[in-house]
Amino acid sequence: MIKKIKELEKLSRLLDPGMDQRDKWNSEVLEYSNSFINKLDTAKAFFYSEKNGKDLYNLDIEEEATGLTSLLDSTTKNIDEVGINPASGGHMGYIPGGGLYPSALGDYIAAVNNKYAGVFFAAPGAVRLENMLIRWMCRLMGYSENATGNLTSGGSIANLIALVTARESHNIKARYFDKSVIYLSEQAHHSILKAIRIAGLSEAPIRYIPLDEKLRLSANELEKTILEDKEKGLIPFFINASFGTTNTGSIDPIDSIAAIAKKHKLWFHVDAAYGGFFKLVKELSSKFEGIQKADSITLDPHKTLFLPFGTGTILIKNKEIVLKAYQYLADYMQDTVDADEEISPADISIEQTKHFRGMRLWLPLKLFGLKPFRASLEEKIYLTRYFYNEIKKVKGFEVGPEPELSVAIFRYVPKDKDAYYFNKKLIQAIQKDGRIFLSSTNINEVFWIRIAVVSFRTHLVQIELLLDIIKENVNIILTERN
Ligand SMILES: *Cc1c(COP(=O)(O)O)cnc(C)c1O
Repeated sequence: MIKKIKELEKLSRLLDPGMDQRDKWNSEVLEYSNSFINKLDTAKAFFYSEKNGKDLYNLDIEEEATGLTSLLDSTTKNIDEVGINPASGGHMGYIPGGGLYPSALGDYIAAVNNKYAGVFFAAPGAVRLENMLIRWMCRLMGYSENATGNLTSGGSIANLIALVTARESHNIKARYFDKSVIYLSEQAHHSILKAIRIAGLSEAPIRYIPLDEKLRLSANELEKTILEDKEKGLIPFFINASFGTTNTGSIDPIDSIAAIAKKHKLWFHVDAAYGGFFKLVKELSSKFEGIQKADSITLDPHKTLFLPFGTGTILIKNKEIVLKAYQYLADYMQDTVDADEEISPADISIEQTKHFRGMRLWLPLKLFGLKPFRASLEEKIYLTRYFYNEIKKVKGFEVGPEPELSVAIFRYVPKDKDAYYFNKKLIQAIQKDGRIFLSSTNINEVFWIRIAVVSFRTHLVQIELLLDIIKENVNIILTERN
């Protein structure tokens, strides 16, 4: 038996390499990441490729070990240099991601110390750190000390937590599902619809409240619809407002909706996954009026705090409500109840064992301080306005509503020609060029090209480049057609 154990130990100890091996790997990974970042200035924002990373299958899992060098080479070729490059300042499609360097270090530390950040008893320091970050975000949104929240993997899970909390808080049982009405606009993010299905509420009537000319949910129409539903004997229960829609960055009238929600006793959720951190820009502060009245707010640090993907946030105004919805005590966890100085993340979320996300958020905020974050967000606002004004001046272009935040839509309107095909061709040409990545959208059945300036690496030089690329390609398409 001892002989067998010793034999196994020899192999199993390979999982815990010594300092020399670690140093070697560290320096190789460091070299890889330096080369990745140093190349970003000239690298594409979108890599067009036939193979699309298929060669990765040559590195399937086997019994024997493989050297790091070939794995990093393959990472560069098959992962980094195909598809969208979210680390690039040229990425202005969808909602671009970030990738602040200190977050990588934070992830590294969190993976090395592997603190059990789901439960206070197990990792009081880690939980304090995460809750301190949550309290900072609560203060930023104007919430009181009675608020709480959770660092999630993204905005979708945050929206799901909000909806389930609302369902439990309003005591909506299965027999009421087909009477419990949900209100949102057509511009609401599809993760809300996904959350409705996951929360078991597919039978709930959904009311798409009409939009005004700036694509904002109309508060008057909202109240009218709620009254009609009440009259029909239905139970209006949940309103989702967007603070910055993904399509156009429009902001629903938060303060008016809050008043309606209060009057009719509905749960009021604000999805600020994209727009929330613009609160850091003083000039935009007034747009947030009333947000502190929301019952829950979704934020997404992996969008407008420039973190690498994997961190969203849900804030809940009233902590008793969310505890009621999620807290659960397993017998084998009985040692953990006494130490309740801080709410444990496991008590207010779907997860138990979780990634220690606090580290990747805390490190950049502390190492940089808030000032550069405020400046970078304000820069994004000005860059978007600049682009909007410049593209408007280019002959043949039409623009959407004046950008409220850092998303704008525009399209080329060809004389006597099909605008849909023209703009489809234009977006394909931009994507094929790859230096800047943009995406398109449909609004009221009209095809628009969309710019979202969100990356911390996007500056004036990328906007000027984009304007050149657009003009170049319009001319090419026009000549082809004539
Ligand atoms: C991105 C986004 C979401 C979804 O968040 P993920 O982090 O992608 O899960 C939800 N709502 C809005 C408004 C968004 O922009």
